[in-house]
Amino acid sequence: MATIIDGKKLAKEYRMKLKSRCDDLKNKGINPKLAVIMVGNDKASQVYVKNKSKACEEIGIIFEEYLLDENIKQEELINLIEKLNQDDSVNGILLQSPIPSNLDINEAFQKISPNKDVDGFNPLNVGKLALNQDTFVSCTPYGIMKMFEAYNVDLTGKNVTIIGRSNIVGKPLIQCCLNKNATVTVCHSKTKNLKEHTQNADILIVAIGKAKFVTEDMVKDGAVVIDVGINRDENGKLTGDVDFENVEKKASYITPVPGGVGPMTIAMLMNNVIKATENSKF
Ligand code: NAD
Repeated sequence: MATIIDGKKLAKEYRMKLKSRCDDLKNKGINPKLAVIMVGNDKASQVYVKNKSKACEEIGIIFEEYLLDENIKQEELINLIEKLNQDDSVNGILLQSPIPSNLDINEAFQKISPNKDVDGFNPLNVGKLALNQDTFVSCTPYGIMKMFEAYNVDLTGKNVTIIGRSNIVGKPLIQCCLNKNATVTVCHSKTKNLKEHTQNADILIVAIGKAKFVTEDMVKDGAVVIDVGINRDENGKLTGDVDFENVEKKASYITPVPGGVGPMTIAMLMNNVIKATENSKF
């Protein structure tokens, strides 16, 4: 039976440490602030933003929400980002995705000041990650790397297989794992013989968005399995991309859903806001 990587507990420990860093800033008269922009009424985004707001409240970060109408023009979105870039009281800017498809999200991410880019989506920060330079790392990959650290999972020389090549999870994970000296394979919807790649993985990271997609037969004995997926099963229950019940019997470490990667993602966002504030004031 695998050791369960307890993301909920780990994230709480991180938030406690961040609260103490936030208190230090406040004692110096500096109040960290996160501005979150949401366009339209995506239901899942509303839940994610609410969770981010709760985490900010717990740590003592000021949370400012900008709710924009789904019919907003690109220019208005960019104007708001530029206004927040100029505002010295704002330390972090987050544009919640998805946004309506008529808007250009890449241009919007590019406009967010690299110094306030707490999601790590500005191309400059993406490039810095590729060069293994200090930067804001996209929160989900960053949270996964912190889990490895906390559970002493050494990536050196390990075969890491990532399923999913999204800009927010799969691609930054490639760099994070390479930077830790892993041998990285990336699989996606066009990959042939997926099972061959997954069976070869000492560490398997799954970010697809398909409930219980990864089954026991796809996993090597003793593998570390990280499940990023958030899905609802046939009974409406929250479930990951991995068939947890069966894969758990074969893995050495595994993350649950819920209570695995999700809480760590939010904790790393909070980390990035505190880091942005510290960077701006000293
Ligand atoms: P996405 O939805 O943008 O893309 C899905 C990826 O899966 C693509 O790269 C695609 O090529 C790949 N894929 C789809 N079907 C496949 C198949 N049959 N075989 C191999 N690859 C396949 O990806 P995303 O935004 O990274 O989201 C993936 C999942 O992770 C979703 O469930 C999302 O909700 C979840 N997620 C969770 C967190 C968290 O904090 N826990 C953060 C981000 C995303």
